[in-house]
Amino acid sequence: MSKIIDGKKISNEIKEELKEKVSKLPIKPCLVVISVGDNEASKVYVGQKEKCANYIGITYQHLHYDSISDDELIKKINHLNQDKTVNGIIVQLPLPKGMDETRIVNAIDVTKDVDGLTYLNAGLLLNNKTSLVSCTPKGIMELLKRENINLEGANCVVIGRSILVGKPMMNLLINANATVTLCHSKTKNLEKITKKADILIVAIGKKHFITREMVKRGSIIIDVGINRVDGKLYGDVDYDNVLDKVKKITPVPGGVGPMTVVMLMKNVLESYESSR
Ligand code: NAP
Repeated sequence: MSKIIDGKKISNEIKEELKEKVSKLPIKPCLVVISVGDNEASKVYVGQKEKCANYIGITYQHLHYDSISDDELIKKINHLNQDKTVNGIIVQLPLPKGMDETRIVNAIDVTKDVDGLTYLNAGLLLNNKTSLVSCTPKGIMELLKRENINLEGANCVVIGRSILVGKPMMNLLINANATVTLCHSKTKNLEKITKKADILIVAIGKKHFITREMVKRGSIIIDVGINRVDGKLYGDVDYDNVLDKVKKITPVPGGVGPMTVVMLMKNVLESYESSR
């Protein structure tokens, strides 16, 4: 097995599996993406979702508003919650300043919350119950599974405590019987902790923050970071300098990133299947 975890290849395999499954369905699953305002990065992410949904055969609808009030948007979400032909709903974040993201996201029906961001889905995950899980940590679990990495009893260190990545990642690892340490910007002696990690998952957003000295020899490194500098993408890990020291590592780009959008489609299919 290769040292480099090829997220692009694995995500393509999953895409084919999902396409095959969807091709056999009498009615196609449907994903609705809602966007508000004029965020350039969001336009790119929305485009990637549309392309992937189209490829797999998932019906895709994009509702865009130049501007809309919180109450009007929640009314639209309630309408989609009631619509039996809709299986997944996403509100593309960030919303324009002044909008209440938490209230809006939590208006999405828990069974259609394919980003896994509602309080209810977060609570289900915390309780190790079936839930729709945030796509990036779900993608990391899939990478670890397909690379045959045993999590039971493994000493896992997660850096970053966002609702989107770090916290769901921590819960997924705990549910898989790993021993987990969650670190953040106030963590003391970070290097001492990272050096003990069998599996180190880094989601900070700082180019090459994790250096060679900070990793354990023979460890597995999952780099979630996406840092664009002078038009080039870098991870949170100093990839070139840790490569010979570690057992396995995800590159940036081509590691965790490609998994995220495919896991979204997997969530849409799961939501569809549980609604039948
Ligand atoms: P976020 O909400 O900004 O959270 C960053 C986390 O890093 C926070 O918990 C923060 O700690 C912690 N942190 C910041 N500086 C630190 C330091 N010096 N030492 C230790 N911890 C530190 O970011 P996010 O949404 O989780 O995303 C993290 C990175 O992953 C970004 O680069 C993002 O672009 C990338 N990302 C990639 C994908 C993908 O598909 N590949 C998906 C989502 C995100 P505090 O909580 O104490 O502030």
